[in-house]
Parts: sequence; structure tokens; C-alpha cells
Amino acid sequence: MECKRIIEATFQSLDNEMDPETHADFEAHLERCPPCSERSRIVISYLLMFRRSDACRCAAPRDLHERVRELLRRHCSGPPSTSQSS
Ligand SMILES: [Zn+2]
Repeated sequence: MECKRIIEATFQSLDNEMDPETHADFEAHLERCPPCSERSRIVISYLLMFRRSDACRCAAPRDLHERVRELLRRHCSGPPSTSQSS
């Protein structure tokens, strides 16, 4: 599994939308890639937090995922991986 897929895979894993083979691949990646392991942990904690809050009960899962991605971008202040000019 590639690093860029880890965030999406974490969402799928939490939603139980992942087949066992992919899940094993995902877990193996987290074990050998500390940055992804950290990112995955952050995603999980944010998602669980949002799901417990009233604010997200009416939000579409996709919106929720976007919000988590946004928070993650702020949390991980590493070098920018994309050079988009807005
Ligand atoms: Zn990785």
C-alpha cells in the first residue's frame, strides 16, 4: 500500500469497508511506516471525536472526511506535498 492511500484506507477501515486482504496490507504498512502510523492515529481520533459530537450527526460522511483531512493538513506541518497555486 502506498503512503498516499493510508488516509483513505483509515476511513475505510473505520467504516468496515475494507476486505481482509487490504486490511492486512494496511496494517503491515502502518507497522513499517511511522509517519503513516501517526497520521492514521490522528485520523481515527478526529473521526471518533466528530462521530461522538452532535455536529456531525447530520453531516454526510464525505463532509466529515473532508474536515478530518483539513485538520490533518493543519496538524501535520511537514513539507507541502503538493504545490498548488490557488
Ligand atoms: Zn507510509
